[in-house]
Amino acid sequence: MMSALPCIFCQIARSSTPSTRILYQDDKIVAFQDIKPAAFRHYLVIPIEHIATVNTLQRRPEHYSLVSDMLNVGKTLLQQDASESDEHRFGFHQPPFNSVDHLHLHCLALPYKPSWKFIKYSSLGPFGGFIKAEKVLEKLKSA
Ligand SMILES: [Zn+2]
Ligand SMILES: [Zn+2]
Repeated sequence: MMSALPCIFCQIARSSTPSTRILYQDDKIVAFQDIKPAAFRHYLVIPIEHIATVNTLQRRPEHYSLVSDMLNVGKTLLQQDASESDEHRFGFHQPPFNSVDHLHLHCLALPYKPSWKFIKYSSLGPFGGFIKAEKVLEKLKSA
């Protein structure tokens, strides 16, 4: 099989794109600003391990704790400027609405900029491919 182009988020996770400023990093997770911010603050939190999409996640303790850690990192980052915006959204795009095939948590501090961008981060309507992080955690929680 021909090797595919290197995944852009894998490159960022391995710090091989000096243009991307890393906001947070540990041994499992990396966070940085979305290159096309759609809100007052718009960060992406990704696992270093290449996991394709939210549909790839399984009901396993390690996936549950990964998503829960990603959400905590996102919350901490947005809380740094909580005085300016306290309306926060956290979630994932489900295929085919995801732009990059490497799991990434969108962390948004509202308002959306421009305001019509809300449609991309809505779980309703024709572009309703957005699933809230809390809902994903509920699904991953083992019975
Ligand atoms: Zn990747
Ligand atoms: Zn996305």
